[in-house]
Amino acid sequence: MVKFLDLQKITAKYADEIHAATTRVIDSGWYLQGKENDCFEANYANYIGSKHCIGCANGLDALIWIFRAYIELGVMKPGDEVVVPANTYIATILSITENGLVPVLVEPDEDTLQIDDSKIETAITPKTKAVCIVHLYGRCAYTERIGEICRSRGLKLIEDNAQAHGCLFNGIKTGNLGDAAGHSFYPGKNLGAFGDGGAVTTNNAELAATIRSLANYGSSKKYVFKYCGRNSRLDEIQAAILDVKLAHLDDDLAARKAVAKYYVENIKNPEIRVPAISDWDAHVFHLFPIFCSRRDELQKFLVENDVQTLIHYPIPPHKQECYTQWNHLSFPITERIHAEELSLPMSPVMTEEEIRTVVEIVNKFC
Ligand SMILES: *Cc1c(COP(=O)(O)O)cnc(C)c1O
Repeated sequence: MVKFLDLQKITAKYADEIHAATTRVIDSGWYLQGKENDCFEANYANYIGSKHCIGCANGLDALIWIFRAYIELGVMKPGDEVVVPANTYIATILSITENGLVPVLVEPDEDTLQIDDSKIETAITPKTKAVCIVHLYGRCAYTERIGEICRSRGLKLIEDNAQAHGCLFNGIKTGNLGDAAGHSFYPGKNLGAFGDGGAVTTNNAELAATIRSLANYGSSKKYVFKYCGRNSRLDEIQAAILDVKLAHLDDDLAARKAVAKYYVENIKNPEIRVPAISDWDAHVFHLFPIFCSRRDELQKFLVENDVQTLIHYPIPPHKQECYTQWNHLSFPITERIHAEELSLPMSPVMTEEEIRTVVEIVNKFC
């Protein structure tokens, strides 16, 4: 069986270092808001290239805190609009609606699968305060044009970097291309913890301080509460594990890239569309999506041949029951992506034989 993602094998690769780190935290008797968080935050900020990193409970919270902090700082107010791709994981949209802001959905480009920058301007209204891009599947969504639109109109540029740690745009890391970025360390992400975890990166000191306070009950001084915050902290033990894995992240990303290269060069099936990659630095292959009009049959065929796949994602946000107010909207490109997408096995621990097997079986489907 070729697994979609073998987390046990990924962990085993770094087991000695991880055991040493977790033992250190357990033996220290200090489990929250300590040295491990300080250390990981400094190392992650350095990796991304941003001035500030604030660890928090998960990726959804990271995004929620960015919008909430802008509201607390008077930059945004409930009812304001945020332009966002229609094809994203629900968390991006939830972080906007959770704050009483209004997501304005924009279709992606068919080829890059990222927000179509030629459709952003028509989505902007006097209520628009931000553009939130999502580096979906680990591919850079930023373009010069998006940067220019935000700069010229005074809009905040927020990045959902949950799937793209280590991805580059002209040598700059995603997560450092806009005003603030949310990162997820969900176990299956390219940089994954042993449970939930997340972070915000930004170069804005005031925003960083507000987020740090919001994620700690709204307090920056013990027993003094400026905001009605929540408890949304990153555990010391998770920070220690993430720090170990961060040191190996670039090697892992190179291994993912090698899998992707093999897929791109060797999948040759007229029924299947493989994304064209123009800039290999601008992709970290969190997922490897392929597209087929008979997607469900293809998935069944692969399972029967011992290849695990997943769909990212079967139902777009605007068709979800939690957003009935948008169920009537039509986004044909987004809907086609959700109907045809299938993610192949992708991880830094796949063997050459596994990679070859996947390609062989995908090419046999007809
Ligand atoms: C995983 C993910 C999130 C949310 O992260 P969690 O840590 O699971 O809360 C947000 N956006 C995208 C695009 C994601 O893939």
